[in-house]
Amino acid sequence: MFANRADVVISLVCMRSRLFPFFLFCLACLEGSSLLQAENHVAYLNSIKKIDVHTHVRMDAAFVRELLDQQNFKYLNVCVDSMGSEMTLSQRENARDLYQKYPRHYSWVTTFDSKGLFEPGWTNRTIELLKQDFENGAIGVKIWKNFGMEILNPTGEYVQIDDPILRPIFEFIAQENKTLLAHIGEPIRAWMPTYTTEEGIPRNYWANRPEYSFYDKPDKPSYSDIISAVDHVLRDHPNLRYVAAHLASLEFDVEEIALRMEKHPNFAVEIGGRTRYLMWQARGKVRAFFLKYQDRILYGTDMGAPANMSLHESESRKNRIITRNAHCTQYLATDDEIPWGDIISGDRPIPEASYSVTGLALPESVLKKIYYDNVVRWFPGVETNFTD
Ligand SMILES: [Zn+2]
Repeated sequence: MFANRADVVISLVCMRSRLFPFFLFCLACLEGSSLLQAENHVAYLNSIKKIDVHTHVRMDAAFVRELLDQQNFKYLNVCVDSMGSEMTLSQRENARDLYQKYPRHYSWVTTFDSKGLFEPGWTNRTIELLKQDFENGAIGVKIWKNFGMEILNPTGEYVQIDDPILRPIFEFIAQENKTLLAHIGEPIRAWMPTYTTEEGIPRNYWANRPEYSFYDKPDKPSYSDIISAVDHVLRDHPNLRYVAAHLASLEFDVEEIALRMEKHPNFAVEIGGRTRYLMWQARGKVRAFFLKYQDRILYGTDMGAPANMSLHESESRKNRIITRNAHCTQYLATDDEIPWGDIISGDRPIPEASYSVTGLALPESVLKKIYYDNVVRWFPGVETNFTD
């Protein structure tokens, strides 16, 4: 009957003023039940096993394992072909070693080296390496935004994810019953001007990384070129489990993600590093999206530990992980009013929050799916050795 609490309040006040004490009583009950519910969801989430599907751990960091034990988490450690062949190789070796040494704490997703993509033998060599990694426990393969935004073919065109050269790789991954974890494209903001403060401080990712800012660069692929290429892969490889990192770079509108969910049963998304965009959309729409697609949304943070951190860096990294998990918990599991703003750096509003966003207060059954059940279903084997 009443759409929300405000409607209840207005209706009661409009009736008769002698109902005012009754109205106050009702309001107290509503507030009380909501608070109780919110607390319960947080406690519930803290109590269950959880898997973060998007992490990058590049060193054997004791603080990460301690945190995973404390917070009842396991990490899916993801390799990325982002810094050249040598780094790609060392990431694969490191992720494999961490998994073999600490199977309670880490599962891993390998990647492949794009160097020599158009040279003879690349496909067979790549499949051979993937096979080795699968034998060494990798449960998926990451493909990165260098496809679509960076890599050129011999005639100087950008290589999109639907390029026929990648077809045998995708077929092999599907045949081996592994999962493709795809970070393709960027938030649509990468095609808009970058933001720098009056003091000249870059305040968003693309101000620091101009190579991925495509604003006013007509020779670069458009946002829709990149997204359509993903659509073609989903259509052409219905047997390939495709988990799109970062809300599939469709972070600005959950309805765009829903369109793909309806079309492609092989498609799921993880939310790593994109919570802010969900918070900027209408709460009711986002909540309905989470409820409708509750079997196809996975928890991720894009956090972890870079190589060679000092003790001091480890401490601040640990705090960032704690803060990000707490922030996501508050947004997903409570109906708290969360202070928020339009300009952000990392996940923090800058300079000060100018309004608040109400948390989604998702049901416990849905939280359990997002933080665990869905990860297990979309990345078979990820849960092995995860005892709490
Ligand atoms: Zn990442």
